[in-house]
Amino acid sequence: MDFISLGRANDIGASCHYLGVNGSGIVLDAGADPNGEGPASLPDFSPIEHHNVDHVFITHAHHDHIGSIPNLNAKWPMAWMHLTPATRTLTTFMLYASARLQRRKFDEGSSPFRALFDEEDLDDVFDVLCTHDYDQWIDLGSEHLRAKLHYSGHLLGSAGVLLSTPDHRRIYYTSDTRSEAQTMIPGAAHPSAPIDVLIMESTLGADPVAETVTRPEEEVRFARRLASVLDRGGTVLLPVFMLGRAQEILALLGRFKMQNLIDPETPIYTAGGLREVSRIYDDYRLSTPRIDPDFEVYSVDQKRFPRTRKARNRVLNQPGILVLTSGMMIERTLSHQVAVELLENEKHAIFFVGFSKEDLPAGKLLHAAQSGAEGMLLSPDRGMQQIECEVDRFRFSGHAHRRELTALAKKLQPDTIILVHGEAEAKRWLKQNLREHCPEARVLTPSQGERVTL
Ligand SMILES: [Zn+2]
Ligand SMILES: [Zn+2]
Repeated sequence: MDFISLGRANDIGASCHYLGVNGSGIVLDAGADPNGEGPASLPDFSPIEHHNVDHVFITHAHHDHIGSIPNLNAKWPMAWMHLTPATRTLTTFMLYASARLQRRKFDEGSSPFRALFDEEDLDDVFDVLCTHDYDQWIDLGSEHLRAKLHYSGHLLGSAGVLLSTPDHRRIYYTSDTRSEAQTMIPGAAHPSAPIDVLIMESTLGADPVAETVTRPEEEVRFARRLASVLDRGGTVLLPVFMLGRAQEILALLGRFKMQNLIDPETPIYTAGGLREVSRIYDDYRLSTPRIDPDFEVYSVDQKRFPRTRKARNRVLNQPGILVLTSGMMIERTLSHQVAVELLENEKHAIFFVGFSKEDLPAGKLLHAAQSGAEGMLLSPDRGMQQIECEVDRFRFSGHAHRRELTALAKKLQPDTIILVHGEAEAKRWLKQNLREHCPEARVLTPSQGERVTL
């Protein structure tokens, strides 16, 4: 059996891995780097150019797991793509939105790259998508090669993939996962031990704080800080990812209002695609794992964040909460535009509630604020700005912290662990600590394109 990571190995970029099992070619995820553009954002398919790809598993609808589906489909049009029904719906929405965005950026000159795919390419993809519920064996055609999707606790529709091979080995790909419950969705339901080969995510491997924070404590701290900004008449910006973090945070804000932890009359503003995604969350509330299936994201009263400058200024002059994309405050997105407006006023706050890469605006602002820098360049148009508003980070990640990951590995008793989806430092910490938790296991951190024989 062969394993090759096709995306950049020491990064949270394009997730895409190849497994050659008894003559069958299996690809796990077909992502693109959400912070990259053009061909460089895609996985490098050249190491498997002359291989067959028979089956593709799409674990969830984040761009770093789906963004190269059309490109993979163009190369291997006969490969079936397996995913849950909710992931199919979300993927459809996200990929059409991505095709439109890529075309617009090229047309208006803000990107030098032509769109990597268009709507017509996507129409072809939908012929090869096969949906499966969790915990059902999927027959992969060749004798005794089967797969099963396990609920992974990361976001709506997310799954880990269990493969059972003709030589009776069990391979488990966690993809992005979280064992503890979030606000709306419960924690993961991983397969039982033993697993022979564990392919495990590493996102929070270099984050020593995440494991020291309990969710209930963090919720209390978040509610108090929100209330204090609102009490002084300020606006709170919560930059969020459109899919997952946005809906979980809206659910949490709804609960805070019910519990009177923040003023129930506080207006909450949302905009753009995250509103559509919230609708999909609500549509699937009875057919996917939920803590409270009766809860709807749209039961939390939301106003649409206005488009005109004048109307926006009115919003920013009153206490309110803005739940806006993008999570990493990429330039020209709504959260970036609003951050530029809030930064120099001590009344306001920008609170981060998800993962932020250090080299992107959210990470840079957080670093600048935490290191006591007086100013920063958030927008070249605006020039240097003083950091007067409150800036903080709250840990409501959809990923397992690193001690959850080592505990999971210990429980599954693998012979081999392959660390993926994390920066070099994160993998280094995990590899070192797994020696203690899984002393018998071989821990691998293959580089991009490196072929590992298992
Ligand atoms: Zn994800
Ligand atoms: Zn991911």
